Amino acid sequence: MKKTITVIVPCYNEEETISFFYEEITKIDKKLKANLELIFVNDGSHDNTLLEIKKLSMKDKRVKYISFSRNFGKEAAMLAGLEAANGDYVSVMDVDLQDKPSLLITMFETIEKGEYDCVAAKSVSRHGYSFFRKIFTKLYYKIINKLSKTKIVDGARDFRLMTRQMVNAILKLREYNRYSKGIFSFVGFNTKWITYENSERIAGKTKWSFWKLFTYSLESIVSFSTLPLSIASIVGIVFFIISIVLIIVIIVKTLIFGDPVAGWPSLVCIIFFVSGIQLCCLGIIGQYLAKTYLEIKNRPIYIVKETNMEDYYEKNFK
Ligand code: UDP
Ligand code: MG
Repeated sequence: MKKTITVIVPCYNEEETISFFYEEITKIDKKLKANLELIFVNDGSHDNTLLEIKKLSMKDKRVKYISFSRNFGKEAAMLAGLEAANGDYVSVMDVDLQDKPSLLITMFETIEKGEYDCVAAKSVSRHGYSFFRKIFTKLYYKIINKLSKTKIVDGARDFRLMTRQMVNAILKLREYNRYSKGIFSFVGFNTKWITYENSERIAGKTKWSFWKLFTYSLESIVSFSTLPLSIASIVGIVFFIISIVLIIVIIVKTLIFGDPVAGWPSLVCIIFFVSGIQLCCLGIIGQYLAKTYLEIKNRPIYIVKETNMEDYYEKNFK
């Protein structure tokens, strides 16, 4: 019997790109020796994205959709798709055609051989990224891989094909602060990396401002490493040792030379310096505390407003 591949497509304000995407993905139909199920997740778009998806679902039974009550972010959209997916294999793909749907054929052929549980795409170039973003991304991967035990592959996209077994493992990770690149790597399994040249998006604009990316990268560090906390305590210990040495020096100096009151400016500098470090360490602890606070509230990661996947809706929301 033919296997089924579920393709999850997160969409946020993508009215311009959806029809191009649908055209491309249906093109591979004949070559792909599997059935397709397409799940478009409308992540609270403010344009006609949902309408476009509904039009497709009208003419093609394989097109399913889940529409959120507001924008919850790509991570939440991917999770919704993974929870709703019925396929034997599951793929995640951007709608802007930066992830080439044709690559799915190779991915499927590779995964069918059974040696790998996941075939994932890694872009060698970063077309469509600004100079600043390229440098920042490089630096980010260097830092996170130093800090985190979970390996985050440089250039890895969310674009991949996974077995049902791996998807079920991912669904066991119910954390609120989701960082998929880390989660994919955390669950393990054999991953085959396919490198490819990514291209610029077909239409529309990227949803990631530099600031959004920056906070996302900080969040991912907090999600996958507790090393900053250890660094904070080490800095504290180092300062303690330095202060002991200084105290001894001052006592000895006063006993030998008898010191008049001096060094007021240097004192102010030291106070500023040390309180700066203290605030920084408090900030690091605060980051972890904030994350813990959000986790413990146990709020839903996304809220569905409407969907044409009745089974999924009934199971999760009724
Ligand atoms: N996306 C989403 N919710 C968001 C932001 C983005 O579902 O809050 C989707 C978006 O529609 C696209 C994918 O995530 O399908 C990748 O977004 P984008 O192309 O803007 O990111 P980039 O490729 O620039 O990293
Ligand atoms: Mg894109």
